[in-house]
Amino acid sequence: CGIVGYIGLPEKTSQHGALDVLLEGLRRLEYRGYDSAGVATVSSGTVSMRKKSGKLANLLAEIEAEPLVPASVGIGHTRWATHGAPNDQNAHPHLADDGKLAVIHNGIIENFAQLKAKLLATGEVFASETDTEVAAKLIGQHFTATGDLTEAMRQAANQLEGAFTLLAVHADQPDRVVASRRNSPLVVGLGEGENFLGSDVSGFIDFTREAVELEQDQVVTITAEKVEIIDFDGTPAEGKRFSVNWDAAA
Ligand code: GLU
Repeated sequence: CGIVGYIGLPEKTSQHGALDVLLEGLRRLEYRGYDSAGVATVSSGTVSMRKKSGKLANLLAEIEAEPLVPASVGIGHTRWATHGAPNDQNAHPHLADDGKLAVIHNGIIENFAQLKAKLLATGEVFASETDTEVAAKLIGQHFTATGDLTEAMRQAANQLEGAFTLLAVHADQPDRVVASRRNSPLVVGLGEGENFLGSDVSGFIDFTREAVELEQDQVVTITAEKVEIIDFDGTPAEGKRFSVNWDAAA
């Protein structure tokens, strides 16, 4: 029910690693309610993931028991289960493309059953009961075909019905986080040498107050120094720029 994404230059991530930013964002997004939480980071060509049902404290304990290597890019999620029980296996992120792709999702993919049947027929193996993992496998297949995470996300988003904010990172393209949205919110936080994604500004309010709200049916690619938005048909687009002026206490 809450989503955060982060990417920064090494000089930024020596101040605050991706994991610090993601966990702080998830803590801020706790007010939305959730039953599970998880994070994935990319470093040295590998995706690392930790996820756990229950409170954020459970995820923190899991990370303490099995620390993540320092990273400058990652995604984080708090889940409000709609498809599949609130257990560790169904918690996000979900992996595809042999564990090189990690995906998180808020919302409901209404045509997931038809898509899942097709993906099973192509030999995909599912580790969860979620609608989200269907989106992950689709993005994974499009990545295999195109070698580009933005294009893979765009093609997958065009096949999905319902409500979704999706975020993805891929081990083979570690310079970016790619996201898409339809009927579900997504905001970009603009930093200097770092950029952020959140389901709302509380996902990054500790780090920047400059933001861009994505419009319906858009894909955004953030790198440490750039933000690029396109519509689902691939046309370059712009979101709505704004500054957060409320006081974020505690
Ligand atoms: N439908 C997805 C699931 O059940 C995402 C739910 C959410 O928005 O957190 O895992």
